[in-house]
Order: sequence, then structure tokens, then C-alpha cells
Amino acid sequence: MTVFTEPISSSVSLFPYKGKRFGSWNLFTNSAGNFFVLEENNLNLLKNKNFLKERQNELLEKGFAYQIKGDLYDNSFKYKKKRRRVVQPKLEYLIVVPTLRCNLSCSYCQVSRANENASGFDWSEKDCELFLKYIRENGAQNIKIEIQGGEPTLRLDLVKFIIDGVSALCSNPTFVICTNLNEVSREFLQILENKRVSISTSIDGPLDLHDRQRTQGRFKAKRFLKNFLLLHQEIGLARISALPTITNPQEIIKIINFYIELGLTEISLRQVNFHGFARKSHRDESQDIKNWNKSYLDALDYIAKHNSLNQNKLIETNLALHLRRIFHLDAIGNVDFRSPNPSGLDYLVIDFDGKIYPSDEARMLARIGSIDFTIGSLSSGLDFETIAQFNAMQDNQKYSACNECAYQPFCGIDVIDDVSRYGSVDYPKLETHFCQTHMSLFDYIFLKIKERDFEALMNFSGHLTGRFEINPVFSGAYLD
Ligand code: SF4
Repeated sequence: MTVFTEPISSSVSLFPYKGKRFGSWNLFTNSAGNFFVLEENNLNLLKNKNFLKERQNELLEKGFAYQIKGDLYDNSFKYKKKRRRVVQPKLEYLIVVPTLRCNLSCSYCQVSRANENASGFDWSEKDCELFLKYIRENGAQNIKIEIQGGEPTLRLDLVKFIIDGVSALCSNPTFVICTNLNEVSREFLQILENKRVSISTSIDGPLDLHDRQRTQGRFKAKRFLKNFLLLHQEIGLARISALPTITNPQEIIKIINFYIELGLTEISLRQVNFHGFARKSHRDESQDIKNWNKSYLDALDYIAKHNSLNQNKLIETNLALHLRRIFHLDAIGNVDFRSPNPSGLDYLVIDFDGKIYPSDEARMLARIGSIDFTIGSLSSGLDFETIAQFNAMQDNQKYSACNECAYQPFCGIDVIDDVSRYGSVDYPKLETHFCQTHMSLFDYIFLKIKERDFEALMNFSGHLTGRFEINPVFSGAYLD
């Protein structure tokens, strides 16, 4: 990839831009997130004064040039560039772990869960008190609380305490209970009568697959499915989300088909990650980037085909996130896929022992004794010195490979993943798992745009807007 900064002609100047060559065509982007594809095998074309003179109106229109400092084009560029990097200062997303105990022992468990009957792994009364104090002082009115574990339904009293306590302090809170659905009690169903509460569960695929990876007993797998169908009936699919953990990429299509069969409208295709127990039990699978990328992109084609032929559409959330990062100014992204990615602001994780982490992955690393990314605790508050040191690394503009990359304005940064896999934040970025998986998806998206792939573009539109139709946003992508 190449970075260009020169002014170009007497009448207009170019904003700094980056180019990426794809054989016979090029992609150009700039830090405002403006882009176009050009069917020319010449990355230096924008340096050609005659070409620029001829195409200056299009370059102004595409947000690549301005006439004078402070004109509409210049202001628009600066505004978009700034908006892309704004992070909310209030705590909007909080993961809490009121108990680490669990009634399953999945092969890839990421959190070194504690046994169901173990003691010392639940929030104490003091932790509960401090938690509400923390929310009172820091929580946004529209805070979203993800109640994780362990298995949080083992402590429904704490789940209820969190929901009632936060609802009394914030005007518009929402809650997600992450549960393995091993048990669904009457008390749990009563909690779910509150429409602000939804659930997230893990479905790894058809019963044999789910059983192999999670329940390790066909009886438990069947009970899970029965409970899933019960909740489907009681609260509706709109309040249920499900995630598979994929240990064998060859099984992706089978998993997708099962999600469609269950009537689910979203799926998040995730490779088994490199945390917790998975580090040992799925070491090779979690590191195999090439195989994963191929299977994942084939799966996106499969979903596009499904969506073009059927009324029951399926959204793949990772693709949706990347598309939003490209096409929406405010889509700052997830905590493991945004830049800058400051911790201690809008997103936190509070563990069973009151310790605070910047992300769930950071919590997992601490649990296995790999590296301590603690940034505070409920009792002592946030450690701003540690946070400042951590945040200094959490910006892709700090890394030379990213500064030369055409995808930088859309991409993110996740030094926790780099440290987890390579033991360092300085590992060459282009060789990281993070870079290679995200770059592969960006390449896929821009290739489909360049090819004007009708089926894929309809699918992209559906992922961005919910309407699977030809979207004019894609027709502006070319400098023909
Ligand atoms: S991580 Fe990779 S894809 Fe993302 S901006 Fe950096 S070099 Fe580009």
C-alpha cells in the first residue's frame, strides 16, 4: 500500500490519501473514510497533473480534494475525520460477572470457570453495594449491562439485584443475560417478563456438534434445545441472540443451516479464540488464519445466496460491523475493533472479585495468569495511570504498517489480542491474526464493490439497512 501527500494542481489540492493495488485496479481511501475504486493498473495516476485536471470535479465530490483551505470540501473532510474517532465519554456498555461458577465445562471455555459448587467465586454484599455506587457515579442513562459468568442463572438473586438496582438509577437501561440454557427455572422466566431484558446464548450447531463442544452428554444437549424452544415461545426470538464457537471451519455451513432452521435472524461467525482453555484444547484451530479466512468468506457468499433466494434473511454480525465501519460515520465499533480504542470510558468489565478490566479478553488473560490487564477495582476505583499507559498503545495511528494501510480509517486495534498471541504489542502488525482476518474481510468487501457483484451488494445493503435491495451508496464508489 502507498501513502501520498502532495498537492496536485493549481486549482485543487488533494487531501492525504492511501492506495491499495489489486492487480488491474486500485482502491483509494483517506482518513475521513472517503474512498473510490479505479479500474487502472496505476497507483500513481493521481499524481498525473493532466488526469487530475480532467477529474477534479469528481475528486472534489468524492471527498479527496479541496479548492481553498476552509471551503466546504475542506470542512467536510475535517468533520468526517474527527467524527470517525469520537468515543463516548460515559459508561454505556458494562459486562459484569456476578459469579464465575458454571454448570458446564466446554472444551474451549475462555474464562477458566469455577465448579458449580465452589465457594468464593460470587459477588459479596459489599461488591453489590460498590457496584451500584459505581453505576450511580459513572453510568450513562442508556447503559447496557451484559450479565455474564460463569453461568449467571446460578445466582438469579444477584441477576435480579443488578437489574432492579440499575433500573432505579438509570432511565433507559437494557440488560443481556448470557446463559448456557442448561436450566430455565420459574424465577428466571419471571425475570424475563421485563422487556428490557434479553438473553444471549451459545449454539454451536446441530445437537451432535453442540454436544461435542459444550454439553458433553446428549441428554444435556437435548435439554438445552428444549429450553431454547421454550424461551422462543415465552419471550420471542427478537429478545434472543445466539453465538456459535467454531472449532472446525468445515462445519460453518452446517452451523448456518441450523441457525436458519431455528428461525434465528443473526449469526456471528467466530473462530474459536485464543483465550482460556481454548489456548490448549484448540491451539491449532485458533491459529489457522488461512483456512479460517477461506471458509469464512465462502460462508458469506453462502449467506448472500440464501438472502437473495429466501424471505427469512440472515445477518452475519461481523460483516455488518465492517460495513458500518466503512459506511457510517458514527460506527465507532466494538471494543476489539475500533480505533482509537481507549479503555476506562464507555466500556468496562467487572469480574466476580470486583476487579475491573478494559475488555472481556483482558479478563480472560488475567484469569489464566498470562498478563494482568487490571485497570482498577470496585473498591479502589479506576487506576488512571495504568489506563493512560494502556491507551497510549490503543490507536492504529501509532503503528507504521497501519499508517500505510488503505483500511486504517475503517479498521481497529486490539493490543490485548496481540499480547495474548505473540506476547508483545510490537509484533509486526501485518503478520498478526487481527490484521490478517480483518484485512481479508475488507478485501472481500471492496472486491465485491469493484466487481459490482449484484448478489453481494444486495446482501451488504441488507446488512447496513435491513433492506436487501440495490443501494445507491455503492454506485458512488467508482471513479470510472
Ligand atoms: S491492522 Fe492491518 S488491516 Fe488494520 S489498519 Fe493495520 S495494517 Fe491495515
